[in-house]
Amino acid sequence: MFETLSRKPNDPLLALIGLFDADPRPDKIDLGVGVYRDEAGHSPIFRAVKAAEHLICETQNTKAYVAPEGDQTFLDLLWSLVGGHTATIHASGVQTPGGSGALRLAADLIRGTGQGKIWLGQPSWPNHAGIFSGAGLSVETYPFFDVASQTILVDSMMNALHQAEPGDAVLLHACCHNPSGAVLTADDWRRITAMIAACGLTPLIDLAYQGFGAGLDEDVAALRSIISAVPEALIAVSCSKSFGLYRERTGAVFAVASLQSASETARSNLVAIARASYSMPPDHGAAIVKTILSSPELCRDWREELESMRHRLLALRKSFADALGEDGRMPPPSARKRACFPFCPSHRPRC
Ligand code: PLP
Repeated sequence: MFETLSRKPNDPLLALIGLFDADPRPDKIDLGVGVYRDEAGHSPIFRAVKAAEHLICETQNTKAYVAPEGDQTFLDLLWSLVGGHTATIHASGVQTPGGSGALRLAADLIRGTGQGKIWLGQPSWPNHAGIFSGAGLSVETYPFFDVASQTILVDSMMNALHQAEPGDAVLLHACCHNPSGAVLTADDWRRITAMIAACGLTPLIDLAYQGFGAGLDEDVAALRSIISAVPEALIAVSCSKSFGLYRERTGAVFAVASLQSASETARSNLVAIARASYSMPPDHGAAIVKTILSSPELCRDWREELESMRHRLLALRKSFADALGEDGRMPPPSARKRACFPFCPSHRPRC
C-alpha cells in the first residue's frame, strides 16, 4: 500500500527552524516560529501556569477522559476573555487540541454545511491553506499585504471579496497578523465588517495572539464588532501563545450566532466531528487555563506577565526596525549602532 504514496516535502517553516538550529553564526536571529523567547532565548513558563500546575497536581484525582466537547468551565471562562459579555450573541464552544485543532474543526464544519469555499488573505500563516484544503474546502485568495511597499491592501482585499458568494467563509486574523504583523486601523475593520455583513460572508476569525498586540481587550475589539454585525461566525482560539502552553495543545472553537438554537446546532456538529477525529481533547492545558482564569490572584499575575512580554516584544520590534538599513536589510554587526539584539541565546546584548 505504501508504495502508492509519494514522499511529501518537509513543512517549509519547520525546515527553516531546522536550518536555523544548524546555523553556527552567533548573530543569527530567529524570526521563524511564533514562540515567545526571553533575553536568554528560552520560551519561559508563565509564573501563573507553574502555580496552576502545582494546584492541579495536588487536587486532580482522575485521568479519566474528558467529554468530546471538553470542559464547559474552561470554555465559559475563555469565552468571557474573547467575546466579553454580549447578551445578544450566543457562543457555543468546543475545546480543541490547540488553535490548529480549532481551525480544522471549523473547516470540517463549513464543509459539512455544503459550503465549499474559504477565502484566505495573502500572505497568511502557512498552515492555513493546508488545514482548509485538508478538510476538502476550496481555498480562494484575497490580497492582504504587499511586501515590497509594506502596505496593507484593504482596497484590493475588498474588491477580491466582492467576488465571493453569500455563505462563503472568509478567514480573518483577529490581531497580530501572521506573518506580516501589519495592523488594520479601526476604520479598515469597519469597512471590512460592513462588507462581510452586506455580502453575507461567514467570518472564520483566527485568534492566536490575544494580548500580544495592543492589549487583551484591544486585540479582540474588532472580533467583537464583527460578531455583533453578522448572524453567524466561527472563532478559532489558541491558548498556545497567550498562556505559553504551546506543547499542551490548548484551544477552542466557538460557533457564534444571533440565534441560540443555531449556535447549539453548530456546536453539536463540532462535537460529532471531534468525536470522529480524535475523540477527546487533551486536558492538561485547558485545566491550567481554567485554574488561572478562575483565580483572581493567578489571573492578575498572568495578565501582568503577559503585559510585560507584550511591552518587551514591541520594544524588540522597534529596535529591530530601527536597526534595519534603508533597504530593509540587516547591516553587518560592525555597522549596528542603534540597537541591541537579545534575540538568541548565543548573542550577548551590546547595550
Ligand atoms: N493561527 C495562527 C495565525 C498561528 O500563527 C498559529 C500558530 O503559530 C496558529 C493559528 C495555531 O496555533 P496552535 O499552536 O495553538 O495550534
